Amino acid sequence: MTTVDASFSPVPWLDVPYIRSLVEKAGTEDRQGIEAILAKKKSELDEVKKHSTGALEERELKGIGLEEIATLSSIKSPDLSKKLHDLAKEVKLHIYGNRIVTFAPLYISNLCKNECNYCAFRASNKEIVRTAMTQEEIAEQIKILIDQGHKRVLMVAGEAYQAKNDGFQYVLDSMKTIYSVKDGNGEIRRVNANVAPLSVEDFKLLREAGVGTYQCFQETYDPVVYKKHHLSGPKADYVWRVNVFDRAIQAGIGDFGMGALLGLADWRFEALALKSHISHLEELGSGAHTISFPRIEPATGSEISRHPPNKVSDEDFLNMIAIMRLAVPYTGMIMSTRENSEMRRKTLEVGVSQISAGSRTDPGGYSADDKSARSGQFEVGDHRSLDEVVKELIENGFIPSWCTACEKKGREGGDFLKIARIGAIKKTCTPNALVTLKEYLLDYALPETKKVGNALIEKEVGMLEEPRSANTRATLEKTEKGARGECF
Ligand code: SF4
Ligand code: SF4
Repeated sequence: MTTVDASFSPVPWLDVPYIRSLVEKAGTEDRQGIEAILAKKKSELDEVKKHSTGALEERELKGIGLEEIATLSSIKSPDLSKKLHDLAKEVKLHIYGNRIVTFAPLYISNLCKNECNYCAFRASNKEIVRTAMTQEEIAEQIKILIDQGHKRVLMVAGEAYQAKNDGFQYVLDSMKTIYSVKDGNGEIRRVNANVAPLSVEDFKLLREAGVGTYQCFQETYDPVVYKKHHLSGPKADYVWRVNVFDRAIQAGIGDFGMGALLGLADWRFEALALKSHISHLEELGSGAHTISFPRIEPATGSEISRHPPNKVSDEDFLNMIAIMRLAVPYTGMIMSTRENSEMRRKTLEVGVSQISAGSRTDPGGYSADDKSARSGQFEVGDHRSLDEVVKELIENGFIPSWCTACEKKGREGGDFLKIARIGAIKKTCTPNALVTLKEYLLDYALPETKKVGNALIEKEVGMLEEPRSANTRATLEKTEKGARGECF
């Protein structure tokens, strides 16, 4: 295996030597620098909160830059972490309010021609049962998710669009199937997709099929580390992968889900590189719709997944999430069920705005039998049902949301980001969260969840300003009488 020079920058917007120098500097805690950044951001936040109308420049909370990210990533003292977390939560509340969007992943296939040595789906792994679900099987799985109350699905597939599975058409057909299933009052209203990097032409097809957010994690932005973990297959090409959103933009897609697999390279490198990547996309008129924070979890047949080379501690993990909330205030931040319930609870306190619930990572897993249980991509840490997660969110003061209104109302890509940047999106997020929560309580919730949920709706609707409060109340009444899919 040829190696990559440590100073090599594969794309112009990623200054690898500079990032390495910042990571090195972040090895020593800079208390004075940290306190100065946190104080400055807090006063900027207080200032923008005063301007709910007026010039956009006055209303936008700017993110922090690479130097500031590096300084904050030097935090080791608990009192500084606490200050950072509190500020990150305040920023999240300012942008999105207290709603938490929920979704479920749907793994349609675990066939893959790549050789990522941390993943159970890698081509050479003989320890899992391989499946590409048929359209009928996908429809059955979706029906199960709908009956649990889900409205948003993240469709996931390994990279193996083989002729025998109708090639890439298989992905497009699967999206169509997901959107076509209706059951009772339920349906999936937004299908996000985590599929391998595509050409501009294939991205156009994905857009026409109605993709919501296109998600693709670089896994690691460190080119040296990337080479060590992506041994063969199309994914071994770092540049093809890292330029994926540039091609998606050319195809007219504007909502991107980004992330790095935490545990491969130094997490500080990933945070700095993510910010560099997002700045590049912003220059192209786009940005990050969401950022995910997957930590490596044990995967069947992968030794590396059990002993990650740069394991991220719980403290650093929470700090990284909080730092990214300050770095890109407007972005949605996603926490999956890789983490256990306790850690997921903590991440909600430092800026996370979306969570998956009741997840399975094996194709066919929602009607699991012993066979499929061995075929997941990684081990799930939170096994609770959607209803249990929803009830806990409510009890902790969050509004669970299944909202997909922005897509319906055409608030996507750059248009969406403009509204999110000035903290105006929460004015629609909160009413929409309440309406979708009402739908969930009427159609799917267990009695205890219904009780706490209805109390939360009553309290929250009373806290909205007029005329928003009256409009929301009217929509809730319509929903009570049978309307579905009403939104603002
Ligand atoms: Fe395939 Fe993705 Fe797993 Fe790599 S991480 S082996 S591309 S499924
Ligand atoms: Fe998401 Fe838009 Fe709904 Fe807010 S209003 S939850 S940003 S879809």
